[in-house]
Amino acid sequence: MTINQNVTAERPNFVSHLECSLTGERYEAGQLHGLSRAGRPLLVRYDLEALARTLKREELSSRQTDLWRWRELLPVRHAENIIALGEIETPLIPIPVSGGAGVLVKDEGRLPTGSFKARGLALAVAMARELGVKRIAMPTNGNAGGALAAYASRAGIETIVLCPEETPEVNVREIAAQGARVWRVNGQIDDCGAIVGRGAAEGRWFDFSTLKEPYRIEGKKTMGLELAAQFGWQLPDAIFYPTGGGTGLIGMWKAFDELEALGWIGSARPRMYAVQASGCAPIVRAFEAGEEHAERWENAATVAAGIRVPRAVGDFLILRAVRASGGRALAVDDDAILNAVDDTARQDGLLLCPEGGATLAAYRKAVTDGLVERGERVVLFNCATGLKYPLPPAEGRLDRHSALDLDVLAPLRA
Ligand SMILES: *Cc1c(COP(=O)(O)O)cnc(C)c1O
Repeated sequence: MTINQNVTAERPNFVSHLECSLTGERYEAGQLHGLSRAGRPLLVRYDLEALARTLKREELSSRQTDLWRWRELLPVRHAENIIALGEIETPLIPIPVSGGAGVLVKDEGRLPTGSFKARGLALAVAMARELGVKRIAMPTNGNAGGALAAYASRAGIETIVLCPEETPEVNVREIAAQGARVWRVNGQIDDCGAIVGRGAAEGRWFDFSTLKEPYRIEGKKTMGLELAAQFGWQLPDAIFYPTGGGTGLIGMWKAFDELEALGWIGSARPRMYAVQASGCAPIVRAFEAGEEHAERWENAATVAAGIRVPRAVGDFLILRAVRASGGRALAVDDDAILNAVDDTARQDGLLLCPEGGATLAAYRKAVTDGLVERGERVVLFNCATGLKYPLPPAEGRLDRHSALDLDVLAPLRA
């Protein structure tokens, strides 16, 4: 085992300030911030000119390929605040049968705690530690809570996690097992968020809701940085992203702009497809209506728990990125989602999570509708391991003490 220099080395920090994503108002770095005064997400800004002078693209190639390779493009100042649990660069897996030629799955299920929430929370928790936060609360559909619990417990930060009633059992138990105090709430994720907001206003804890603190997006941004490096600094033609709060889509879009400002990529961008389930598709509805903001989706219901998000504070950022990219917001039915999961598992040996299945279902629909051509370089995001979700039953049993007819298992070949 070698020491990971990406994590341990002190590296220069290039954060210049934070900025309201709606009004552009500036906020000082090095202080604890939630939302902007306009009630919108804050974005971290860097001195990219200075960064470009200090760090060359080629230098990155010689580093270990994990998340912390991108330290100069991340906000953490002091190495001692980093909690590293093995945030690997996730692989791009072809799915030639269920997807087709050119289709690659970025398999985020291999990250710590089994989901890409580890990227966001690794950063957000390191920054909370750097800024002296002692207690954090978060609403979650499961995976974010699991990642928060792991990183924060290890950092010695107390955590309170609220999940909607329908959160998969394994997620709730995982959160508890990793040292958080977890409650189920009879409502949706934004109902949980309202309780978290109330406690934060009373000074009980710091609010870690999606995009309500500025650093989770910086962690998710590394998906875009990684893709650029993995594609040899030429981005793919299209990205299909399962969109709940939209942190990853917004983060990747930010990453591409930063990489272009550094001169590491050109101006070409992938078409961004925001994928939602038809039982909870506020962004799709707003996209189709030409709106800048999305109204709350009532009675949200889908098997894809990670994208069951009736309302997103970063709605306008998702919609702007999708529109600017020439992509679209697409909704797919639960049946299509489950078929996609089933096909990829049986035909290509990769067990997607339902949200990942949604991206394949949306890709298929996009091909049928002529939005994407077969053979284009397409990336589908599988954001968690399929093993964190309830699987279809498999009920076969054998009594080894009875006279077994092995023909029932498999007939002899002629
Ligand atoms: C959280 C989550 C999403 C949605 O991610 P956002 O960036 O918040 O839109 C998708 N899939 C899975 C498995 C998730 O856990």
